[in-house]
Amino acid sequence: MNIVLLGAPGAGKGTQAAKLVEKFGFAHISTGDMLRAAVKNQTPLGLEAKKYMDAGDLVPDEVVIGLVKERLQDEDTQAGFILDGFPRTSTQAVALDSELSGLNRPLNAALLVDVDKEVIIKRLTSRRMCRDCGFIGTETDATCPKCGGEMYQRSDDNEETVRNRLDVYENSTTPLIDYYRGCELLVEIDGDRDPEEVFANIQDVLGF
Ligand code: ADP
Ligand code: ZN
Repeated sequence: MNIVLLGAPGAGKGTQAAKLVEKFGFAHISTGDMLRAAVKNQTPLGLEAKKYMDAGDLVPDEVVIGLVKERLQDEDTQAGFILDGFPRTSTQAVALDSELSGLNRPLNAALLVDVDKEVIIKRLTSRRMCRDCGFIGTETDATCPKCGGEMYQRSDDNEETVRNRLDVYENSTTPLIDYYRGCELLVEIDGDRDPEEVFANIQDVLGF
């Protein structure tokens, strides 16, 4: 299955993607994770991307489109993939369609994880991540419950940047909801529930 995950920052896309990967073995393609890795390794692309990310703005389309096209060449994506955080603009969605139709690997679903704005702001400002394994937790996790690693707050999870990311989402990304509805690929999920319940719902709608 080839799936696109849609939803505001903090809607739980990363958490659900991790569950789908663990249970079904799909390849996880997270542009946010790829960009953060580039920043950490101080590659030229990472240095360029960092200024946008710290402000909560989108990294230019051509940069992320290039990353995703390259990643889709990897063997592990052949058996199915979860795109998490991409596409985020109409330009990215159109580029993705054309790449996938060229590869003859069309999308099977666009899953929208829907959560209210106020809930999102609370979630993001209390979100913490594991430096070692990427586990997504909250401020109550002193160390990583999975591997014992150090938990940290993403530099873009402060309230001001969070508000900007939500504005960017409203303006640039919500038009994709209609785009995928038009392609008859859209499936909506209520994301304001326990992650396990959301995951059960996702498996249900995908017919697993
Ligand atoms: P979240 O979904 O929590 O906002 P991500 O980890 O997906 O976080 O993305 C973090 C940041 O990386 C974004 O705010 C943006 O600057 C950049 N980014 C990630 N994916 C894209 C994309 N598809 N297009 C442009 N910028 C992106
Ligand atoms: Zn960990």
